[in-house]
Amino acid sequence: KLVSREFRQEDTIVDVNGVKIGGPHLAVMAGPCAVESREQLMEAAECVKKGGAAFLRGGAFKPRTSPYDFQGLAEEGLAMLKEAGEKFDLRVVTEVVNQNDIDMISNYADVLQIGARNMQNFQLLKEVGKTHKPVLLKRGLSATISEWLNAAEYIANEGNYNIILCERGIRTYETFTRNTLDLSAVAAVKELSHLPVIADPSHGTGRWQMVRPMARAAIAAGADGLIIEVHPHPECALSDGDQSLTPQNFESTMTEVKAIAAMM
Ligand code: PEP
Ligand code: MN
Repeated sequence: KLVSREFRQEDTIVDVNGVKIGGPHLAVMAGPCAVESREQLMEAAECVKKGGAAFLRGGAFKPRTSPYDFQGLAEEGLAMLKEAGEKFDLRVVTEVVNQNDIDMISNYADVLQIGARNMQNFQLLKEVGKTHKPVLLKRGLSATISEWLNAAEYIANEGNYNIILCERGIRTYETFTRNTLDLSAVAAVKELSHLPVIADPSHGTGRWQMVRPMARAAIAAGADGLIIEVHPHPECALSDGDQSLTPQNFESTMTEVKAIAAMM
């Protein structure tokens, strides 16, 4: 398999327009779950930059469980992401839910995110595989490690090796947390694959109180980085407010995460 350690022994380093992910580099992606307004995004981006992260995340196409929930600002949101990315010198990460949008989204974003719900959307995987854009591939809601790596294989098999894996929690019998963040999968993937892997303690727990400890734990477990939801006013968020950090909490989290990364 192309993504396996047998195929390639050394760690893959993904270059996102000059910012590296994997190997000795700590990659932190942060920002709101969804782009809601220019003001909200600019405030979030300023805090992301201040915390020392290099990537701005934000959804413009939201794969919501209910069709009545906020679905995202679409291309208008992408334009805001690009503007914020340029203003604060942050690389932009955003989700693509439809293969017909790949070219359009590529004009605004640096990293194409494949969400958990689309991890086995094989046509979408093949289409992002035909581009040279870095792809952030989230683990499916109930995907085994093997299924997840096979999803990455679909992308690599089309010629795109710029893949970053993301452990974002899996569905278990537990109800206190939104998902169960499987940090053992981080260690497993480091053994099985040469691809970089980051962790998402926001979707992985669903609770802002748990984001900071799980962020620290993920880096200690060997993750190459994190993706964290940050909102200037989490109580007003249109999606995932319960798991979003305040700017102040994000900055403290970053200080701790950087200290742990320096020890690894
Ligand atoms: C997100 O990053 O906002 C998201 C929808 O994540 P996931 O696909 O992991 O649920
Ligand atoms: Mn979210």
